[in-house]
Amino acid sequence: RAAEQNRNIYRFYDQQMNSKALDRIALENALRYAIERNELIVYYQPKVNCNTEVISGVEALIRWNHSERGMISPIDFIPLAEENGLILPIGEWVLKTACTQVKEWHNQGYKIHLSVNFSAKQFQQDHLKETIERVLQETGFQAQFLTVEVTESVAMENVNFTIKILNELKAMGVKVSIDDFGTGYSSLSYLKKLPISELKIDRSFVRDITTDQDDAAIVDMVIVLGKTLKMNIVAEGVETVSQLEFLKSHHCQEMQGFLFSKPLPSNEFEILLTSNIKGVIL
Ligand code: C2E
Ligand code: MG
Ligand code: MG
Ligand code: MG
Repeated sequence: RAAEQNRNIYRFYDQQMNSKALDRIALENALRYAIERNELIVYYQPKVNCNTEVISGVEALIRWNHSERGMISPIDFIPLAEENGLILPIGEWVLKTACTQVKEWHNQGYKIHLSVNFSAKQFQQDHLKETIERVLQETGFQAQFLTVEVTESVAMENVNFTIKILNELKAMGVKVSIDDFGTGYSSLSYLKKLPISELKIDRSFVRDITTDQDDAAIVDMVIVLGKTLKMNIVAEGVETVSQLEFLKSHHCQEMQGFLFSKPLPSNEFEILLTSNIKGVIL
């Protein structure tokens, strides 16, 4: 009896695993066609000056509007795309879509910066420089307004390679930002050597900034470091006024977070942009 019960349990687990694997294959197949079916969407989250709350730039964040499952977060499909290589066409699509959109805002007189996330495979692709050059050419987007965001761990994986790429991007006029800063391990001497324009302090340090002295000290240190190395510092995931007050009093330049705005579809972002003479938080 016990043996039979065990067998049933195993069969149950087996089926579960099977359906998980099938689920994954189905998702992967659907993702393959997501671009042509127009299911991918770029959302835009403003980056604002901490003191003036004026929008200085925007981060492009992908979403997948799946026909049956609804909106799927990048956390749930970017890793999949990274594994099967689809990240390359998807990444180029994001870059092209966002450059086209932000170029339109430039034409309306809003000269904001655009940040686009690059995963490990995208950053390490053979023709990164050529891909970016081609998209800039096709869209007419000015290189000086483009920032490539790459996480600290990806940037530090192969530093010699990173130095080479970063110098190529710099020669084109494209800036580089280190995303999720503090979650990987950067050697300070590399940080000094690399042509990096910006550090984005990871959300996990910002969360308890007002209650956790260690987090407060880390954030303060990164702000000071940025000043010394002449890098722009952006705090990620700012959700409360007291977090913003901390950042202001420690002279952090810029912030992103739900306090100011969550990521928005282009039409909603445009409304925010055109009404942002002075920000919405007083
Ligand atoms: P990330 O680049 O660090 O983006 C910041 C994430 O934090 C976004 O999640 C954003 O919606 C979220 N966020 C912003 N402000 C707040 C806040 O105040 N509170 C909280 N709780 N969250 C906040 P999202 O859009 O789900 O993206 C997750 C990650 O997926 C991104 O992290 C990035 O690593 C990746 N990703 C998104 N779009 C792309 C893309 O086009 N290409 C690649 N390669 N990766 C992407
Ligand atoms: Mg990012
Ligand atoms: Mg980030
Ligand atoms: Mg982050």
